[in-house]
Amino acid sequence: MPQYKVPLREFRFVLHEVLRAEQHYRELGRDDVNTELIDSVLDECARFAEDVVAPTNESGDRIGVRRTDDGRVLTPPGFIEAYRQFVNDGWAALCGPAEYGGQGLPESFGGPIGEMLVSANMAWKLYSGLTDSAVLCVEKHASEDLRRLYLPKMIRGVWSGTMCLTESHAGTDLGIMRTRAEPDSQGSYRINGTKIFITSGEHDLVENIVHMVLAKLPDAPAGSRGISLFLVPKLLPDAEGKPGAANGVSCASVEHKLGIHASATCVMNFENSRGWLIGELNGGLKCMFTMMNHARLWVGLQGLAQCERAYQVALAYARERRQGRSPGGGGNAGADPIIGHPDVRRMLLTQKALIEGGRLLTYFAGMQMDKALHDPDPAAREQAEGLLAILTPVVKGFVTDMSLECTNLAIQVHGGHGYVRETGVEQYARDARITAIYEGTNGIQALDLLGRKVLGSGGELARLLGGEIGSFCERHASSEVMAEFVTRLTGLLKEWSEATESIARRAARDPNEMGAAAMDYLQLTGYLCLAWCWARSAAVSAAALHKGVADADFYKAKLATARFYFTRLLPRAEAHLDALSAGAKSLMDLPEGQFAF
Ligand SMILES: Cc1cc2nc3c(=O)[nH]c(=O)nc-3n(C[C@H](O)[C@H](O)[C@H](O)COP(=O)(O)OP(=O)(O)OC[C@H]3O[C@@H](n4cnc5c(N)ncnc54)[C@H](O)[C@@H]3O)c2cc1C
Repeated sequence: MPQYKVPLREFRFVLHEVLRAEQHYRELGRDDVNTELIDSVLDECARFAEDVVAPTNESGDRIGVRRTDDGRVLTPPGFIEAYRQFVNDGWAALCGPAEYGGQGLPESFGGPIGEMLVSANMAWKLYSGLTDSAVLCVEKHASEDLRRLYLPKMIRGVWSGTMCLTESHAGTDLGIMRTRAEPDSQGSYRINGTKIFITSGEHDLVENIVHMVLAKLPDAPAGSRGISLFLVPKLLPDAEGKPGAANGVSCASVEHKLGIHASATCVMNFENSRGWLIGELNGGLKCMFTMMNHARLWVGLQGLAQCERAYQVALAYARERRQGRSPGGGGNAGADPIIGHPDVRRMLLTQKALIEGGRLLTYFAGMQMDKALHDPDPAAREQAEGLLAILTPVVKGFVTDMSLECTNLAIQVHGGHGYVRETGVEQYARDARITAIYEGTNGIQALDLLGRKVLGSGGELARLLGGEIGSFCERHASSEVMAEFVTRLTGLLKEWSEATESIARRAARDPNEMGAAAMDYLQLTGYLCLAWCWARSAAVSAAALHKGVADADFYKAKLATARFYFTRLLPRAEAHLDALSAGAKSLMDLPEGQFAF
């Protein structure tokens, strides 16, 4: 199997040429984050990802994690060394707030850095992934004392973070959770309960683990309005922040699962564990959403990263593997490389178009996070918050669904050799599978997009996104070169806006209409957003070719892929429009008893 190579040329195209990263950071007052700095950080991290992290991926999958009889969880060989270097070289602290010892690079920097490290080894990166989201939550909602005590260690990566929401009977529906919190005499709380499926709940990479736990006080209001958030360390730190006594937090077991074998997914018991309230009593879900929204973008990135790695393997295989004669095969004696067959090209181009479009969308959303947090102009902050709100479920839901398709296509390109373990490509499909499930299943992302974001804002967030796409279309309306993209994008935007209004009218009459339309609406919005991303890439590429750049082939390939996307993938949007307009009736008519006879 070929070694993972970070697609640096691709990253630079997206960051510098399409998203104009230097200008973006300058507008946030960060003149120091210039092209030179961005490139040198990308180059350095690429070396770390390729040389140190990527070699642990296959063995990590094969060996997995192991829980010892005394409740410790051991990561596979090589994980501790790679993690130590991750911390010592400052990668963990890259985007952490400078006030607490981080290097203070803007959040969006986490996009390309996170992507390359997840492509290198998703299970390994998960140990530090949720820490960044927990840091954001503590920074925003915890008391100054807690921030001073916990953030420096978490940001440096010497302590890691978890999110503890799920219980055996309470997954999507957190309102029925049973974990209890009771005030103690020291101004803190005692937490009792069992959480399941906790990523990195216990492991051997750090000296302490900080659990962000949702629990209910005995007299709390029923349902999700009675949930509070607590910070519960595995080991109680002393005033200087040295981890001391055990805090009644233990790992009862680790799950054996389809993928990410080297990521510890733990059943966690909290027995009279001391916890500190984060945010307001009964306001825990609101605080947890700070963490979850960050984590949802991060999960979208995980899906993207798995596609990229699988695509690299599939492409190398398609160039090497010889089977049959292809129409333009060149008349070699024997068989031609399978990359010459139209159907294999379809599979590769589908991956390429979805990955490159998905990358632009994901990084664009990351930049909205920077703006929402740091733009000096309040109106720009508000606009970025709105775009981030509507794009988060699209990145989480659409990009991770696309990762299931792309990693499966990578197996298909290999034929039977993709189904057996030897080529290693099946690992990416197994690892990617979870991204459509955790951090809120994709079904829940669809409800979030249509119900909370679009209908919940009275259509305002849809108009905001539509406005962005519409003004791009207007800017390029008179360009002959762009006509093949802009005409279709303008038409689809109109159809999407009309579909949004039609669902809003139907949902006002029948509550099932919203739930019935949600997944098709998510997919439709995803294809629309990727069309916009591909049109943006095409505009930049056409301009570069017009100027007469040296690496013309790169931009020609962009235009060719944009055409593939518009002609071969975008027609899927029509199918989602048709399904949407069919309404809820055919879904709801079948009585439950008639699903099987
Ligand atoms: C490997 C792994 C790691 C995880 N890591 C963590 C972690 O670190 N922390 C944590 O707290 N949890 C974690 N989880 C849990 C994960 O977030 C949940 O599995 C997920 O949120 C779904 O909950 P559930 O499994 O109980 O499914 P359920 O909620 O039972 O859902 C089952 C099905 O019903 C659908 N459904 C449920 N309710 C509705 C509704 N109202 N409308 C429409 N459809 C609905 C769902 O979309 C899904 O298809 C992890 C899970 C796994 C497998």
